Amino acid sequence: MLDKTRKKVVIAEDETTLNEIYVEILEDLGHEAVGFEDGATALDYILKNEVDFVVSDLKMPIMDGLTLLKELRKRHPSHPPVLIITGYFNPQIRKDALEFGVVDLISKPFDFEKISEYLDR
Ligand SMILES: [Mg+2]
Repeated sequence: MLDKTRKKVVIAEDETTLNEIYVEILEDLGHEAVGFEDGATALDYILKNEVDFVVSDLKMPIMDGLTLLKELRKRHPSHPPVLIITGYFNPQIRKDALEFGVVDLISKPFDFEKISEYLDR
């Protein structure tokens, strides 16, 4: 039987250790997670696979988190929700990102329970 609470999550995070931790925690929470270290490879994967949710770092080489969302909006009208995490948090960046259509922009370090809340919606 299909488990609707199990989500397919794409992680885009350029810090390898963090990326691995995110994937591991999401899998521990019962989700399927796949990690990429820049926005461009994450985008390519999301366009070719069924993905329920995207957790993306803001600052990454090649393609940052907001550009990833921008490209998704252009190329994938029913794209999965994108949550952005950043170490460079400020309220203005969050405001701009929310207006741009992210689910939320939260600062590192963050609580995975918060991500779970978004995934359960
Ligand atoms: Mg980064």
